[in-house]
Amino acid sequence: MAASDRAGDPLPYGVSDAGPAAGEGGHPAADVAAREPRRRAALDASAPRVVAWEVTRSCNLACAHCRASALHGPYEGELSTSECLDLVGRIAATGKPILILTGGEPLLRPDIFVIAAAARNAGLRPVMAPNGTLVTPAAAADMMAAGIGRISVSIDFPDPVDHDRFRGCPGAFDSALRGIRSAQDAGLEIQINSTISRLNVAYLPRLLALAEELGAVSFHPFMLVPTGRGHDLAAQELDPDDYERTLNWIYDAQRSSPLFFKPTDVPHYWRVMRQRARADGVKLEAHPHSHGGLNTLSRGCLAGVGFCFVSHVGAVQPCGYFDKAAGNVRQQDFGEIWRTSPLFADLRDLDALKGKCGACEYKRVCGGCRARAFERSGDYLAEEPYCAYVPRGWAPAAG
Ligand code: SF4
Ligand code: SF4
Repeated sequence: MAASDRAGDPLPYGVSDAGPAAGEGGHPAADVAAREPRRRAALDASAPRVVAWEVTRSCNLACAHCRASALHGPYEGELSTSECLDLVGRIAATGKPILILTGGEPLLRPDIFVIAAAARNAGLRPVMAPNGTLVTPAAAADMMAAGIGRISVSIDFPDPVDHDRFRGCPGAFDSALRGIRSAQDAGLEIQINSTISRLNVAYLPRLLALAEELGAVSFHPFMLVPTGRGHDLAAQELDPDDYERTLNWIYDAQRSSPLFFKPTDVPHYWRVMRQRARADGVKLEAHPHSHGGLNTLSRGCLAGVGFCFVSHVGAVQPCGYFDKAAGNVRQQDFGEIWRTSPLFADLRDLDALKGKCGACEYKRVCGGCRARAFERSGDYLAEEPYCAYVPRGWAPAAG
């Protein structure tokens, strides 16, 4: 997932910035029948606020962490132009979400600006997540003409040697910076994404300084989710204590940086934010670039709740790292999948969470990363494996 500006209406669970309500340690053993009306209400009321769409899996780079293990392609069975235009209409029929055109490398798709313009004309808000290396002045002008207001570009190391090695392509760093300048000259906003692991966590201050220097409007540290080619980087994932230290650093840095931070794929940041604000006696407030106070109003993980991912072959998933389909747009209407999928129903039911997450007083603002739980245990409702927090009064089940 990339340029994820999750702005919009409040979520169905009424999350607020007042911190978690006390005594929300409801256990998964709660009566399923009693939960059913709430599950249905959440399904009926919700519409996606953000949809990330892998318009192609082909890519001109070969990044070490890639969830899609993307190579140059072409990939069999990608949606045709007419299937894409049909999907745009079906997404628009559910609401007016932000549509992230991602990949692979979205600019490798020859009809990408036709799709983006159709999305804009249908009332969606298209943004794009290119790797930056193909953003020429002409491509940037086409983006603007198609209604794309912002692009996200990934910079994982503050220097060319390490970035190029990580991205699997000599010259990738310099090309991405050239692409950023072309986009800015055309009037596009820039978001910098950095995938954070043990390999580069020490560079976070320099990555933030680089994002500020480049004139980005936001900085999104993505915490590594080791799926796809990222499997090989599993040993590089931060341990829970390092996560805690890193999230606290992000909280402090956000308070003094002009950039909006959006730590991504790390829902426990929403817990840390509330713990720190309470300890510091401050009120969480909307950042000027947060598009409506995202960090204060949103929930840590929106997979299947306010966000979903459509793959290059039309599979609808909770997110790009969550390798389980709720349906496929070739067989079923997008809106019907969104509203009726049992997988999404499970993810919208906070009472179904297990282990520490099920017992946690922060589950309404966090909920844990369901993709990591799934990857680690095969159970997407299991506890988040990379959170150091011990919920009040929680004790693991005996045996
Ligand atoms: S499941 Fe995990 S990787 Fe997917 S959106 Fe939620 S936090 Fe991010
Ligand atoms: S225990 Fe689970 S719900 Fe609670 S803060 Fe940690 S990841 Fe979030």
